[in-house]
Amino acid sequence: MKTTKTATLTESSEHILRARQPLLICHSAPDGDAIGSTTGLARALRQSGRSPILACVDPVPTEYLFLAEVESFLSVVDMPFDLVITLDCSDLSRAGRLTETPGFDTVPLINIDHHITNLHFGDINLVSVEAASTAEVVLALLDAMHLPVDVGTANCLLTGILTDTRGLRTSNVTIEVVESALRLMKTGASLTTIIQNTLERRSTAALRLWGAALSRMKLDHGIIWATIPAQVRRAVHYSGNGDAGLASFLLSSDQANIAAVLVERDDQYVEVGFRAVPGHDVAAVALELGGGGHTLAAGCTVPGPLEDAEARVINLLKSSLASHS
Ligand code: AMP
Ligand code: MN
Ligand code: MN
Repeated sequence: MKTTKTATLTESSEHILRARQPLLICHSAPDGDAIGSTTGLARALRQSGRSPILACVDPVPTEYLFLAEVESFLSVVDMPFDLVITLDCSDLSRAGRLTETPGFDTVPLINIDHHITNLHFGDINLVSVEAASTAEVVLALLDAMHLPVDVGTANCLLTGILTDTRGLRTSNVTIEVVESALRLMKTGASLTTIIQNTLERRSTAALRLWGAALSRMKLDHGIIWATIPAQVRRAVHYSGNGDAGLASFLLSSDQANIAAVLVERDDQYVEVGFRAVPGHDVAAVALELGGGGHTLAAGCTVPGPLEDAEARVINLLKSSLASHS
């Protein structure tokens, strides 16, 4: 990975190789890259004789349960650790209350990520915005540490690449990204298994959620959006994270430049997912609202009620579109 500073890779490698029991934390409401980059790194570290602790405040979604190491995830940590590594977190709040774990502030923190909005909150920040997934940064790190990548690790990392790029379809997929995917396949990772378990499979409740949300879809000046009240989410028995990929689907409208889906949580807060076509930018609006992400895919959590959040988010998107056109 030529764009990640070699010095940062070397410094990260040295720290991690010295650790015996590193605490690996991925973001709340974890996606395939959060799970895949964390489990891939954990597996390689365990095979090298270390005892990584995997943590996430939320459970692993069922579609990732075929991956190695997933059964090791904890939501509360009460054992000692000598290093913290965050994965796929653009800011520390993405780790949730795990930052309150006793001892958290007493050990070094390595921040491994690929979000353009990353706040560089680590003692070492291994952040590569050219990478399409955190999993690719982990692959470069394993090479720098001279740790072998076996088929189990390769499946974890390829899951990160494929889920964050929706199957190598996003506009940040470069030759380097495809080369990393190819290398993991040559190691034995199964493209078919990963795609069938993740991208090509969703709960029936997710489809019902899409149906309800699509009937509430709105379009105005190239912005397409839908709101999902908590009551609708409950009526279809959807218990998964976020919008089940709906924002990407909305963006496929031939009249859309920006898509947003607002999902009302039980605690009255509203999860917002954004997508944009190349040439537009949703990372800035997400950051302004306290979230983060990439230029073309971002998100945030804002206070409700849902109607107020909708007005605030859509007005901000409209003014951001107006100032860039
Ligand atoms: P999603 O729409 O959930 O697939 O997220 C798209 C991108 O935005 C991902 O890179 C997420 O890491 C980021 N993102 C989503 N929600 C938040 C949030 N509440 N805070 C910061 N980043 C977020
Ligand atoms: Mn993620
Ligand atoms: Mn990611």
